[in-house]
Amino acid sequence: MTHDLFRQDAYLRECSAHITATAEAGIVLDRTVFYPLGGGQAGDSGVLVLEDGTEITIADTRKGKDADGHPTSDIVHIPAPGQEDRVAQLAPGMAVTARIDWERRHRMMRLHTTSHLLCHVVPQLVNGCSITPDYARLDFAMTDPLDKEQLTAAIATLVAAAHPLTVASISDEELDANPALVKSMSVQPPRGTGRIRTIRIGGEGGAPLIDLQPCGGTHVANTSEIGPIVVTKIEKKSATTRRVVLGFAQ
Ligand SMILES: [Zn+2]
Repeated sequence: MTHDLFRQDAYLRECSAHITATAEAGIVLDRTVFYPLGGGQAGDSGVLVLEDGTEITIADTRKGKDADGHPTSDIVHIPAPGQEDRVAQLAPGMAVTARIDWERRHRMMRLHTTSHLLCHVVPQLVNGCSITPDYARLDFAMTDPLDKEQLTAAIATLVAAAHPLTVASISDEELDANPALVKSMSVQPPRGTGRIRTIRIGGEGGAPLIDLQPCGGTHVANTSEIGPIVVTKIEKKSATTRRVVLGFAQ
C-alpha cells in the first residue's frame, strides 16, 4: 500500500520514501506525492532521486492492479523509456526522494479547480471529463447551446471572488442520502473505505456555496490562484452532449 500524501496536501512537491516493489509495470513506493491517473486527471511525471544522486525519470503514474486487473492501493511510478539498466538495479528498501514536475502539476490543479467552477456555472450532469496540463474538457449531458464568452466571464468572476477550497469527507451513508452531490455520471466516488473525500468551494461563514462534490483529485487552495483561464472551445459532441474545453489565456 502506498500512502498518498497528495490527498492531504496537494502542494507537496517532494517527499522521502522507500521502494516497496519493482515490477514490469513500474516502481512502487511506501509513500508518494505523485498523483496516479484517475477521476479524469492525468498522472504526474517527475523524478525519483536515489541516495547516490542518480535520477530515474518518471513519465506517468498509475494505480496498481492485481493479477485479475482489480485496483490495489499501490501507486505505480512508470519510468520513461531508455532507463532499463538503472531501473534494473532498484530493489525494495532503497531510499528515494520522489519529486513531481511541479509546474505541470500546478497547471492541472488550476484547470481541475476551474472544472469545479464550471460545474457551478453549468448545472447539468457531467458525463465525461479529462484534465491535462494544457487543457481540461468536460462533457455536459445537455441539449441547450452554451456561449463561450459567457462561460469565460462567469469563471473569471468566480476566480476574482477568491473563494477558498475546503477538503473534507463524508460517509457512504451521507452520500447515499444526498445523491445530488454526485455531479459526474462518468466518475464514481471512491467507495468502500467508509469515507469519501469531498471538495467544497465557497460556503464559508455564510458565503455562497459554489460547489460541493466528491473528488479525489488535486486542487488549488483558493480560486484566486487559478489565474486567467478561458473557454477555448464549445463543441456539440452529440445530440445530448455539449463539450466545453478550458485552456490558459494566451
Ligand atoms: Zn476535483
